[in-house]
Amino acid sequence: MKPAPFDYEAPTTVADALKLLGSHEDARPIAGGQSLVPMLAFRLARPSLLVDLNRIPSLSGIEEKGGVLRIGAMTRQAKVLASDVVKRHAPLLVQALENVGHPPTRARGTIGGSCAHADPAAELPSAMIALDATMVIAGSGGERRVRADDFFIGAFETALQPGEILVALELSKQQGVSAFLEVSARKGDFGIVTVAARVAVKDGRCIDAALVLGGIAERSVRCAEAERILKEQGATPKAIDAVLAALPLDAVTMDSRSASAAHRRRLIPELCRRAIEAALASQVTP
Ligand SMILES: Cc1cc2nc3c(=O)[nH]c(=O)nc-3n(C[C@H](O)[C@H](O)[C@H](O)COP(=O)(O)OP(=O)(O)OC[C@H]3O[C@@H](n4cnc5c(N)ncnc54)[C@H](O)[C@@H]3O)c2cc1C
Repeated sequence: MKPAPFDYEAPTTVADALKLLGSHEDARPIAGGQSLVPMLAFRLARPSLLVDLNRIPSLSGIEEKGGVLRIGAMTRQAKVLASDVVKRHAPLLVQALENVGHPPTRARGTIGGSCAHADPAAELPSAMIALDATMVIAGSGGERRVRADDFFIGAFETALQPGEILVALELSKQQGVSAFLEVSARKGDFGIVTVAARVAVKDGRCIDAALVLGGIAERSVRCAEAERILKEQGATPKAIDAVLAALPLDAVTMDSRSASAAHRRRLIPELCRRAIEAALASQVTP
């Protein structure tokens, strides 16, 4: 099928892009096009105006300033994956990106496009939540900042309001070690179950932890009780058993032909164990 007809504009500033988005009720930004172009072709999206963000230089780039890493929303996934500063500052993001699509999709797909699209099985939303990222949003009233955990609302639903643009993601330096694991039908496919694990251990104590499941519900699920156990009991083998017993298996609602809800529930504990153990194994011991 061919897309329904649409107008096309390619502004060079965020201010102009916002004006254009405000001029049509159903205008839509386009970034890497890796999700939106197929949606247009299948007529799942029928915007009357496409606002191309690719010619806005201020939306791309990676910058570390005052301990905060700012990644422009239009930065290509491949660029983030290859970035040494991202590897040092937020290794979990790189670990997640290794599972996102394939080299050709990562060469065009953007970091902001994946977050704005908010596919329930996408890897980046879980990584952003586990890293406590801040999403920077521009609208006609100026800029606002939203915590990743509040940004991702449901399947293909975020805190972005019509006419707004996600301009950047901001990350504090990652606390602790991490791992991102998933089960998917083939390498590069969306995850059936994904796990983002981050554990910060100091003087034998677990001072911070994040465990986030993806692919199992309308949005990524933070395992609050499991995180609490890790922080209280430390990342010991006994505590990990308690963590696995406290996983929110009743949060699994995704039930599809590729994997039933029961299958996803069976996968979660072992994947979580492996992710926590892989994170801890990556710790450099003096
Ligand atoms: C073969 C294939 C395999 C893939 N596998 C995976 C996978 O395993 N995991 C995964 O997570 N993804 C996967 N993807 C999707 C890919 O990661 C896309 O890059 C991503 O979903 C969308 O990013 P994009 O830059 O292409 O955005 P686009 O497709 O251009 O836009 C997607 C949506 O976000 C909106 N949008 C984009 N940028 C902004 C912005 N800055 N502000 C506000 N709204 C915005 C658009 O209006 C649109 O609604 C795959 C894609 C393909 C084609």
